[in-house]
Amino acid sequence: MIIGVDIDGTIKDTQRAAVEVHNRVLKRNVRVEDVKEFYLDKAYGLTPKEASKLWRKLEEEIYTLGLPLKNAAEVLNRLAQNGHTIYFITARPGMKNIRKVTEDWLKKHGFPFNGKNLIMGAQDKAKEAKKVQVDLFFEDAPNHLLNLVKNKIPTVIVDAVYNRDFPYSLPRITDWRQVYELVEKGV
Ligand SMILES: [Mg+2]
Repeated sequence: MIIGVDIDGTIKDTQRAAVEVHNRVLKRNVRVEDVKEFYLDKAYGLTPKEASKLWRKLEEEIYTLGLPLKNAAEVLNRLAQNGHTIYFITARPGMKNIRKVTEDWLKKHGFPFNGKNLIMGAQDKAKEAKKVQVDLFFEDAPNHLLNLVKNKIPTVIVDAVYNRDFPYSLPRITDWRQVYELVEKGV
């Protein structure tokens, strides 16, 4: 199987890192448990435009910090060892510094990154998934989930508070260990 894997919110607890960095910079004390939306503008009382501008400024640090989601690295390594092909497909911008922190983070946390299987700047994940013939995609963000569904890419939702009301019925995991069964079933 060719497996496409998003990074932020899919194999990495990016929300927690983002809240920590925003709290420090904005001198606030927002708790990650209280953030119910994908974007942070409401939690910090910013306009979407202000929030996205601030994100651009802080993203390198946010991507550098933060821990993998539980069992993600272990499971993806096992799948790679069993002959599956893994592509990390992220909408993070492909600038040199962002690519570097992304690669370093994948290596640091022992993900099956081989120097070639990282696709950045993937605003249209369905398009990228088709290019490398992904059989199964793992994603958390509602906008990307919607695009993947519309383009008939078999997709699994990585559970998060902000995607629980996603309107299409797709397989959902709350722990990466649930992936073995899905991959064996060929979902
Ligand atoms: Mg994501």
